[in-house]
Amino acid sequence: MSVEKVGQSRDVWVMCPHCHGVFYVDRSFYTPKFDRIALYCPRCHKEFAKEDSPQTWGR
Ligand SMILES: [Zn+2]
Repeated sequence: MSVEKVGQSRDVWVMCPHCHGVFYVDRSFYTPKFDRIALYCPRCHKEFAKEDSPQTWGR
């Protein structure tokens, strides 16, 4: 996996529970407005709920 843009405060890094790939999403996905929006993994192309992510960084 590659993590080359760590440090941008507006992004949150999440781990996909399906393939364990790491990718980042905009911080706005973690506001209550998006509580019911599933995240989309660009690696395995599956959706998952934010609370199903085994690990997040930058929240
Ligand atoms: Zn995935």
